[in-house]
Amino acid sequence: MRRLLRRCSHTDQIQIVEPSAEGCEDCLTAGDSWVHLRECLVCGHVGCCDSSKNKHASRHFRETGHPIVQSFQPGEDWRWCYVDQVVV
Ligand SMILES: [Zn+2]
Ligand SMILES: [Zn+2]
Ligand SMILES: [Zn+2]
Repeated sequence: MRRLLRRCSHTDQIQIVEPSAEGCEDCLTAGDSWVHLRECLVCGHVGCCDSSKNKHASRHFRETGHPIVQSFQPGEDWRWCYVDQVVV
C-alpha cells in the first residue's frame, strides 16, 4: 500500500517545556475527566486528547496555533503535528 508521506515544517517551534499540570488543566478546573493527555511542545499546556469528550488539546491548538503536541502518557513519546496531520 502506498502512502503519501508528508513532512512537518514546524519542528523549529518545539521548545523545552515543563508540563503545566499533572492532568488536563481545563478538565481539572471543570471537574471533568479525560481519556488520554497531550502536552503542547511550544508552551507546555497539558490538554486532553480527541477521544476525550472535551478535546482540550485540539482546542488549545485552535486558540493558540501551537502546532505540535507530544503524548503525555507514561511510556509514550510520539509527537503529532495538528497542521500537517502527521507524526513528527
Ligand atoms: Zn507541522
Ligand atoms: Zn480536558
Ligand atoms: Zn501551547
